[in-house]
Amino acid sequence: MAPRKSTRGKAPMEQLATKNPRVAPRSINKYTVQCEKCSKWRVISTVEEYEEIRCKMEESPYVCACDDPANIEYNATRTWAIDRPGILKTPEGFTRSLEVRRDFSRIDAKYIAPTGKKLRTLNEIAVFIEENPTYKDVKLSDFSFTSPKIIEDTIPEDVN
Ligand SMILES: [Zn+2]
Repeated sequence: MAPRKSTRGKAPMEQLATKNPRVAPRSINKYTVQCEKCSKWRVISTVEEYEEIRCKMEESPYVCACDDPANIEYNATRTWAIDRPGILKTPEGFTRSLEVRRDFSRIDAKYIAPTGKKLRTLNEIAVFIEENPTYKDVKLSDFSFTSPKIIEDTIPEDVN
């Protein structure tokens, strides 16, 4: 099954979920960005670098070393999910975690606080900041629970 042709322009960032649906936990295992100029997909090696690109995407679209051969192809051998550009970088000390639901219906975003506490809503984050004055300078607006949208055409066929 071939994936939808081009997603560029609308949502130029993509993330890949795991290849094998039976391997748990199904989390994002590769971060990729599409070049604005040559349309090649590029694997971004760290989530920090990826978040940096994603947060600036709207003002400064990503451009690669276009002469280099592509290091990943956009096709249905992997499950892909489109991320929203503009989501801010995860505040220092916190980890943003994305988990793909068993049935591939959606991806859930949560944050893990420096203490290890899992935070699933903005309200939980607000309470955490209030209870932990060390993080009083962390802004609530730096957090986003907007999760990448799974591209249906790339969901493995044996998933119910
Ligand atoms: Zn390029």
